[in-house]
Amino acid sequence: MKKFIAILLLCLSYTALFSGDSYMHRAVTRHAVKLLKVPNAENLIKTYCLYPDRYYGKNHKKIAPYLYLEGDVSFHDIPSISLTTLYQAWVPFEKGQLRRSRKYKNENYLFAEKCFNFYFSNIKKAIAENRIDDMMKFTGCLLHHLQDATFGLHVLEGASGTDVYTLNKFSGTDMMMEIANLRPAEDWFNISAEPTYLGNTVQEAVMRLYSQYVKYNRNACNALFAIAANRIGANDPKILEQNTRKMYLNSLYGTLDILYTVQAWLNKQKIPQNPLSLTDLTPYEPPLSGYGKYRLKMLQIRNNELEFGVHFEQNIIYHIAENVFANFTADLIAENAGTVSVNIINNNKVIDTFTISGNETKNIKITSPCGVFGLRTSSTAPQGGLIIKNGKFNRKE
Ligand SMILES: [Zn+2]
Repeated sequence: MKKFIAILLLCLSYTALFSGDSYMHRAVTRHAVKLLKVPNAENLIKTYCLYPDRYYGKNHKKIAPYLYLEGDVSFHDIPSISLTTLYQAWVPFEKGQLRRSRKYKNENYLFAEKCFNFYFSNIKKAIAENRIDDMMKFTGCLLHHLQDATFGLHVLEGASGTDVYTLNKFSGTDMMMEIANLRPAEDWFNISAEPTYLGNTVQEAVMRLYSQYVKYNRNACNALFAIAANRIGANDPKILEQNTRKMYLNSLYGTLDILYTVQAWLNKQKIPQNPLSLTDLTPYEPPLSGYGKYRLKMLQIRNNELEFGVHFEQNIIYHIAENVFANFTADLIAENAGTVSVNIINNNKVIDTFTISGNETKNIKITSPCGVFGLRTSSTAPQGGLIIKNGKFNRKE
């Protein structure tokens, strides 16, 4: 009997985590298909966008070729972005200075990058070989992953740096089942939204989808936290509705971006593209904390600028698609800063070194930005901050 109850409990939690959300996946996929007028998408809506869940059922052999897995880990349980190394791992150096004791490793980025690359490469290949049904299957799996990361329990994993049990642990109540049971309301299915084109090449699409995924996931995570706080506090149905809707919209945006890009590739559409702003990208190694007003602060992202504190060592590093951009331009502005040594990194090499201090401004221009890209900075007496203003990747003709 005990064994039977244990198996029953396992099945229940399995259902909550992986299968209970079919309605949501189908609804948001149908909504995006309608907005973009995607033809012949019934299989995508009814079946393919559920593949990553259905893999855990009797059809796993049929589904496996279309699904990205690392060993036994799928995007359902993508590793979290951990910030601990960025604030914990320091060793004292000479004269009261500190040095980083460990290199930062963003497991979430490493996983997501390989995952998105798998899907976009296979989608391009299927289009080139006119295997349209296969293209739809890969697309369905990719949509599912983005939808998982933006609506319901899986929002808590990955880019938000926690695990699905977080709210249970913090609240001391069983909040998982309530969140697993959240459903979109039918009157949201008429909401209109504009897709973002992710780019012509697989590398650019991977780079931009990673940034969109982090952004949508964090918006959804804020909404989920508001839902939990409301459940414990006011228990106002209006707050529940507003925030469930916010999660749903982030799921819709991610679904639209992917479907729009895949449809443009399939139809060989030329989509005009503007220069890309640095604020549209997510650094895989973000700067964290500093001194004075920057103490415990995360990277501040405003309209056209990024701001962060000066530290003994402070890096802001991206991974930029190859052969897409002609140059990168920006102003680097010191904000009441002590002397900071700046290494400009492009394609994983130091291409320029200078110092900046006080309220100085330096113009930065980097030709052919690609690969590991950004700033590695250090200071022997850290104070103040740095602002990267008007950071812009100009495209090749
Ligand atoms: Zn799922």
